[in-house]
Amino acid sequence: MQAMLWTSQDDGSVRCGLCAHGCQIRKNKKGRCGVRVNLRGELVSLVNEVMTSVAMDPVEKKPLYHFLPGTRIFSVGSAGCNFTCRFCQNSNISQVPESGVISGRRINPEELISLAADNKARSLAFTYNEPTVFLELVYETAMLAKGDGMRVALVTNGFMSQDCLQVLSTYISAANVDLKGFSDAFYRSFCGGRLQPVLDNLKTMHKLGWWLEVTTLIIPGVNNNADELKALAAFIHDELGPDTPWHVTAFHGAYRMAEYPATPLPLLEQARDIGLEAGLHFVYIGNVTSPEGSTTFCPQCGKAAIKRTGLRVTGGQGQCPSCGAKLPGIWN
Ligand code: SF4
Repeated sequence: MQAMLWTSQDDGSVRCGLCAHGCQIRKNKKGRCGVRVNLRGELVSLVNEVMTSVAMDPVEKKPLYHFLPGTRIFSVGSAGCNFTCRFCQNSNISQVPESGVISGRRINPEELISLAADNKARSLAFTYNEPTVFLELVYETAMLAKGDGMRVALVTNGFMSQDCLQVLSTYISAANVDLKGFSDAFYRSFCGGRLQPVLDNLKTMHKLGWWLEVTTLIIPGVNNNADELKALAAFIHDELGPDTPWHVTAFHGAYRMAEYPATPLPLLEQARDIGLEAGLHFVYIGNVTSPEGSTTFCPQCGKAAIKRTGLRVTGGQGQCPSCGAKLPGIWN
């Protein structure tokens, strides 16, 4: 299928405008994501309607804590990624083999919507691999979902182009965006990306009115420098607002960093303290058990407003049960 957002060049190459890499792709070559190819001077998606994973997940697993809590979200993923994170937890689908062979199931947007409805899903997430690289399916499915009153969320690295954001603007209700660190050097050497486009896109998503939650995977000795985390928390506070939830999550060895040690709880607690000191109202600890780090405390009265134990959620009506203050998020 012909891809969206590209321009042809005089020499037969094409320029992909889908993400901040802006790959120039010669004939019969693929872009950095491995799933967009220049065929006879036209950019073609290799993964349109190719799904590698389809599941009903607890929405907390995304993680989204202020978006329809306690419900299940119809979650779909394809293959490919515009990043090459050395610590990727889903490298089996994100990193397309050189052969280009992608095994998955063909499902079109109408079928996805009807599967979501059959499963009584109230929302739909594009997740597991980077949704930007299969924009064509995301766009068509999100349009249909909106028509059916179903909310759509993205779980993304936030490295798409501004044009891509404009295409999706009114069809997306929420996003969990990875802000993987706060140094460009880290983004370049560990992720194969750059920091600034992610920051710019977070600001644009905020302006578009998407409900945003931010996740940072804390890797011991790699991206947990206190000054960088302070700068990261200050960015969320100043540019996205103090009500934006920040998830600091534990790393467990994976992909090219399989031998690295897992993040100890005290490092996550330290990161959480940094977020709270920066003035963020909601800082959560994920991927490990932390009763305090998984509870929503009311910014007004300080009491527990939403408790999460494993997949069980208590509260989550958008209001503090103690003082009645409204909580920010999408609750119904
Ligand atoms: S989506 Fe990004 S990485 Fe993939 S071809 Fe387009 S510009 Fe390159």
